Amino acid sequence: MKLSIVAPVYNEERHIAAFVDRCIAAVSPGPLADFEIVIVNDGSRDATAQIVRQKIRDHPGTIKLVELSRNFGQQSAFHAGLSLASGDIVVTLDSDLQDPPEVIPKLVDKLLQGFDVVYARRVGVRGGHWGASGHTGLKALGAYLFHQLMSTRRRDRLPRDVGEFRCMRREFVNHLLSFSEYTIFLPGLAAYLGFDPGFVEYRREQRADRARTSTRSLTARALDATTSFSIMPINLILILGVVAWSLPLIVAVWIGIQFAAFGRPPSALLLVAFFGLVAWCCTLSILSVIAHYVGRTFLESKHRLRYVVKSVVEKPADDD
Ligand code: UDP
Ligand code: MG
Repeated sequence: MKLSIVAPVYNEERHIAAFVDRCIAAVSPGPLADFEIVIVNDGSRDATAQIVRQKIRDHPGTIKLVELSRNFGQQSAFHAGLSLASGDIVVTLDSDLQDPPEVIPKLVDKLLQGFDVVYARRVGVRGGHWGASGHTGLKALGAYLFHQLMSTRRRDRLPRDVGEFRCMRREFVNHLLSFSEYTIFLPGLAAYLGFDPGFVEYRREQRADRARTSTRSLTARALDATTSFSIMPINLILILGVVAWSLPLIVAVWIGIQFAAFGRPPSALLLVAFFGLVAWCCTLSILSVIAHYVGRTFLESKHRLRYVVKSVVEKPADDD
């Protein structure tokens, strides 16, 4: 039974060598000895690709370097890696060593107990940052809220505190690859598929340096994930609309009571300014959510390529 380890890399020259070494050390002994590491270079501009090529020379036949033509983002890179992985069992994880490769054998063991997919569940971060995501400050709060939101859905709920670190059977991977949508969010698609999931807990490591995914693209990913899987934001707008309309109603009753009981007219200018602002905010948020869905429809309708694979390197080049 062959194992594929799939990891995206973007400017990870500081970690990629240790990542490959730790993966090899984690899976070499024991029943997992037949394995490949699929590294997807997502348009790195540093020495990442050269280091991976060196590793291909050091460990012939174990590493596949998939070069994308530019930076397409982590989700596309994972998709490219999954589609080029040949294992019967496939593990996906980040290459920045936040997901310790030593957990891989535990995931595979669990899978072989009869599960279709095994998620690595974060139970905190070494070093004691708030939340299990490995982020800090506002990013940690955003990640926490996003996970709360995505795990409250009824049928295809995202398991709590899981990310990209998971182990899948070949059939599961094939189903995952069969979705045709342009904007992909693999943890959401995996949850959508269902099957029989298992869980292994682990402590996420802190990132040794600056994250490669900016807060902006993380927010965009969370927004895409939320809107590509539900029309829940539209329902939220409905609730917002009801709440917004109840405000002037309450104030109208209050004005009525004030006037009837004490004969006191309210400051009309203040009231108009306040409710004008409320109405303006509501309109803006409504328009922005609708616009987001329109934008997504536009993106999907173009049927663009999700990414472009420039080359796949498995053997050292002659001039290497
Ligand atoms: N990554 C990628 N393309 C990108 C951004 C990130 O392939 O455009 C990779 C990155 O090298 C890392 C993983 O995706 O292995 C997660 O990135 P990051 O640590 O920035 O995300 P976070 O851990 O903050 O979710
Ligand atoms: Mg990371």
